[in-house]
Amino acid sequence: MFTRNIAKFNQAMGFQRSSTNKPKTQPGSGRSIRMGASNLCHHIAGGPISIEDASYISWVVEHPSALRSFDQMMKAAKGKKIALFLDYDGTLAPIVDNPDLAFMSDEMRAAVREVAKYFPTAIISGRSRDKVKEFVQLSNVYYAGSHGMDIMAPPRPVKTCDGKYPTVALDKKGNEVLFQPAKKFLPAIQKIQTALKEKVVEIQGAMVEDNSFCVSVHFRQVREKDYGILEKQVKSVLEHYPEFHLSWGKKVMEIRPSIEWDKGHALEYLLDTLGLSNSTDVLPLYIGDDRTDEDAFKVIQRRGQGYPIIVSSSPKDTKASFSLHDPSEVLTFLSRLARWRKSSSSSRSLAQIWGVGD
Ligand SMILES: [Mg+2]
Repeated sequence: MFTRNIAKFNQAMGFQRSSTNKPKTQPGSGRSIRMGASNLCHHIAGGPISIEDASYISWVVEHPSALRSFDQMMKAAKGKKIALFLDYDGTLAPIVDNPDLAFMSDEMRAAVREVAKYFPTAIISGRSRDKVKEFVQLSNVYYAGSHGMDIMAPPRPVKTCDGKYPTVALDKKGNEVLFQPAKKFLPAIQKIQTALKEKVVEIQGAMVEDNSFCVSVHFRQVREKDYGILEKQVKSVLEHYPEFHLSWGKKVMEIRPSIEWDKGHALEYLLDTLGLSNSTDVLPLYIGDDRTDEDAFKVIQRRGQGYPIIVSSSPKDTKASFSLHDPSEVLTFLSRLARWRKSSSSSRSLAQIWGVGD
C-alpha cells in the first residue's frame, strides 16, 4: 500500500509515468476528481524525505489536498447550494498551550466574514457558544457551541428556502437560541465542574474549562508523569454521574451528557433549519481537525453529498475525503472559496443567492 502511494506521489510530482492512476469519485460530485500530492512540495522542501514525511505523503494521496483539488471540487459544486461548517480550534485558530489564548487572526476573521456573505456558515465547536463567539466576533454566522449542544442563529433571522423563518427563543442576553438538547443536564454539569476543580487543583498545569453543556479538562501543560493520576481523578468524579461520559480530544478530556447528539447531529439540524435537509442539490462542506469532527464527516459521507475536509499535518484515521495541512491552508481555502463564488455569481450576495438578510 505504502509503496503504491509513493509511486502515485512520484507520478503526481512528475517523477515517473504510469497509466494506472485512475480518477477517484468524490461524494456528491457525480464527477471524477483526480488525486494528487504535489502540494507537498510546499511543505517538504528539498533534502531526503523522512519516514514522517513519507507517511504523510502516503496519507495525502488517500486524502488529497482541498487546495490542489479546489477547481475540480468547485466544478462539481456548480449549480448546487454550498453550506459551510467550520470547527474552531486547530481549524480557524492554531492549537495553543493555554486554551484561553486561542485567538484567530484578523485575516482569518476577514476570510470567514467574506465567505459567510455567500454561503450559510456555521462555527461548530466544543467550546461554549459564548466563548467561541467571543473569539470569532462575527455576526453573520451561526454558532453551535458545546459540540453542537447549544445552537444560535445570527442576530437577524435567516429565511429558509421555503420562505419560512425558523422558530427562535431568546436567551438571557436577548440572543436568539435555536436549540439546546442537553438543557436538563445543566445543574449536574455545574456540580461536575465544581467537583473537578477541587480534584485537579493539585495537579500542576491541569485546567478545567466550562463549556456550558460539557466540561473540558485540559492537560497540555501537565507533566506526562501526572497523566495517570489526572485521569484517575476525573474518572472518580464521573463515576457519580452515570448519565455522563468521558471522551478524548487533543490533550483534553471532555465530560459530556450521554445523549445522542454530536457535531454530526448539529450539522443535520442546521441543514434542516435552513430548509436544506431534503434538498438533493445541497453540498455541505465541513472543515475540522478533531476526533469529534469525524461525526460530522460521517454524516456527509452517509448523505452522499458534500466535502468532508480534515485539517492535519500528520496521517490520521479519518472519514474525511480531503485534507488541509494547517489553519493557514484553511485561510487560503476560504479566501479562494469566496473569490470563486464572487466571480461565478457576478458579485451576488447571500441575500440575493438565498433570499435572506445580508
Ligand atoms: Mg478542533
